[in-house]
Amino acid sequence: MFLLSHISRRTTASPSASLDSEPLFPKLWFAKWKWIHYDASGDLAYCHICINGLKTDKIKVSIGHAGESTFISGGFWNWKDATRCFNKHEASLLHKAAVDAVITVPKPV
Ligand SMILES: [Zn+2]
Repeated sequence: MFLLSHISRRTTASPSASLDSEPLFPKLWFAKWKWIHYDASGDLAYCHICINGLKTDKIKVSIGHAGESTFISGGFWNWKDATRCFNKHEASLLHKAAVDAVITVPKPV
């Protein structure tokens, strides 16, 4: 019962007109990569977790992190390759360190 009504609702509620107003930055990316900060004025994406980590001196960018600076200072714009680059940044040591430092609540000693 539940499944059937769910499916019918999905198939009927798909107005083709909404395709025209597709945003430049798909909302589903925000859902998948929660660290993304999108700057609509410059059409650039940043990683707010890494930026936060740097601002608060919790992480440091070294030469090995050069590829990650796109998401911190320059801004990411290579939308054709977005999925791969987002995954790459998420898997980077710098980002993981930032997540640990910024997001993870320190364990009580
Ligand atoms: Zn990051």
